[in-house]
Amino acid sequence: MILDNIKCSNCKKPYPETGVPYRCSNCGGVFDFSEGLPFQPGKNPSAQGIWCYRQNFGLPDTLPEISLGEGNTPLVWINAEDHPEKKIAFKCEFLEPTGSFKDRGSAIITSFLMERGVKIALEDSSGNAGASFAAYAARAGIQVLIYVPESASGPKRSQIEAYGAEIVSIPGKRSKTTEVLIDAFENAKPAQNQTIAYASHAYLPFNIPGYATIAYELYEQLGEPPGTIISPVGQGGLLLGIGRGFEAMHTAGYISKMPMLVGVQAELCAPLWAVSTYGQLDFRMISNEETIAEGIRVKYPVRGDEVLNSVKNCNGRFLTVSEEEIIEGRKQLAKNGLFVEHTSAVVWSAWKKTLGTLPEPVIGILTGSGLKTIP
Ligand SMILES: [Zn+2]
Repeated sequence: MILDNIKCSNCKKPYPETGVPYRCSNCGGVFDFSEGLPFQPGKNPSAQGIWCYRQNFGLPDTLPEISLGEGNTPLVWINAEDHPEKKIAFKCEFLEPTGSFKDRGSAIITSFLMERGVKIALEDSSGNAGASFAAYAARAGIQVLIYVPESASGPKRSQIEAYGAEIVSIPGKRSKTTEVLIDAFENAKPAQNQTIAYASHAYLPFNIPGYATIAYELYEQLGEPPGTIISPVGQGGLLLGIGRGFEAMHTAGYISKMPMLVGVQAELCAPLWAVSTYGQLDFRMISNEETIAEGIRVKYPVRGDEVLNSVKNCNGRFLTVSEEEIIEGRKQLAKNGLFVEHTSAVVWSAWKKTLGTLPEPVIGILTGSGLKTIP
């Protein structure tokens, strides 16, 4: 299978025809879709969810369809209490099969691993990505080891284990977990005809076309491109994928304007906000504290430059919200019947802070379920 549109974003080496490298063997760069994503309007009526749009994945037809019913999530409109003429539509990604938007990416990553004959896959996440990948790998019959910091506990860990994945607990900080995983992966000696992959949701580019399906769905649900997309941003893959989806439609001449992308970070860990505000990377400006929005606590986003460019190109912006605002946002969303995790709740305060100033219609992405946070 040739993937001629996926290249190292640094040295332009094409993604190889065999194996599943998570980064470039020449220079250590990150692989990406070099020409953007293709776009053909219409959807396959015999497929469901994200697979209706597989002609836009930029991946070969030989990819097997690994599905748990991901995609096709509803839009729920809410009016601002104090300004009833102002409203927002929430894209309910917390209703995905494993309770988070990650499923759109996991379906495609797992399909790619299947196509490449992977039998064992490693991943590092104690959160939504770990649970999502464990579920899709179970569906595909791939054995999974999820590396998590020893401190990780709670419902997400239980969810990962329930899907049959093996948990490898690593003492120390979150970054130590990734270091140990990469070391184990690079020194692994798989038996003959056994392929092992590091199925990193941060490094591998295959979740990008999955997140782009949110753009295609939004266009269909609204009958027009949204004015603004407000989304939580950690690695930024979600906002990048949605932006790429709209870019693909725009380049194909299918829509005449791009929505403004607004990325929301927690004040306690806001590297992309800091870079976009201060013009260049100044690490003194970047805090890396324990935010309650655990899903977006990422100090060094792997595709940070791409996310920054994507937001800049549509005249978008980054915003931060405080811990108090996150807690209040979650409360307000729940009062409206939407029970989400704290990471998703950043969107509420970002909307309230910018009320009436953003191009309409305004869409907020609610990324993960509140059910995962019940002790
Ligand atoms: Zn390279």
